[in-house]
Amino acid sequence: MKVKLLSYLPDEKTFEDLRKRGLSRREWLKHATFTFSIEGASRSCTHQLVRHRMASYLQQSQRFVELGKNSYVTPPRIKANEKSRKMYDGLMGVIWDGYEKLIKAGVPVEDARFVLPNAAVTNITMTASAESLMNFFKLRCCMHAQWEIRELANQMLREVKKVAPFLFADAGPWCKMIGVCPEKDTSCVFYKTRRGKKPIFQSGDEGGWT
Ligand SMILES: Cc1cc2nc3c(=O)[nH]c(=O)nc-3n(C[C@H](O)[C@H](O)[C@H](O)COP(=O)(O)OP(=O)(O)OC[C@H]3O[C@@H](n4cnc5c(N)ncnc54)[C@H](O)[C@@H]3O)c2cc1C
Repeated sequence: MKVKLLSYLPDEKTFEDLRKRGLSRREWLKHATFTFSIEGASRSCTHQLVRHRMASYLQQSQRFVELGKNSYVTPPRIKANEKSRKMYDGLMGVIWDGYEKLIKAGVPVEDARFVLPNAAVTNITMTASAESLMNFFKLRCCMHAQWEIRELANQMLREVKKVAPFLFADAGPWCKMIGVCPEKDTSCVFYKTRRGKKPIFQSGDEGGWT
């Protein structure tokens, strides 16, 4: 998966000038916006992403764009096991053969796509305010979130921190932001060590969450 911060408002200079003039972080969270390009995520991941309603999306069409062979994401836990990886790749091969045969037989791409799996790759552009991103990071950087959207959230967090560290200094999962774990997930590796502590992270060490 490739995540790129395409643009953001305001630019760094304006942002710094206005900050010096006294606009608070709370005020900025509502007005700063960020646009990301996300390439090579699975449909399963973007299906979860678009549940975040306080954002705008533009997703690659599966009606008009024919997906070539090998356009699928393999979960690391499948990749790690030779037997399951072979089985998985074999299934994907069968699916894509069927998809291509249907198209060759004259079935429109928009109908042939019904056989494609959750693993099929897609590209999506997302624009969201900083406030909405804070909510997204809180939910999706959490170890309770599914691995692919967590990876996406962590990549996005790293991108915004580069350009707006002032806004996102304490952004991250629940336990980092509010010092408690609402999931009460005792199996989480961070549950015991970070529960109840505030601030839980020093700025910049969010990499441990990926
Ligand atoms: C670990 C995890 C597991 C999940 N599992 C499931 C699952 O099994 N099934 C499932 O269906 N979903 C699941 N979800 C998705 C979840 O239910 C939310 O839809 C998703 O996280 C979006 O969250 P949100 O509403 O806070 O975000 P946004 O939609 O971006 O909203 C942000 C905030 O804006 C406010 N807001 C937005 N829209 C409205 C509105 N119409 N009215 C009032 N306030 C609004 C709310 O305060 C909201 O918290 C899961 C999410 C997570 C993180």
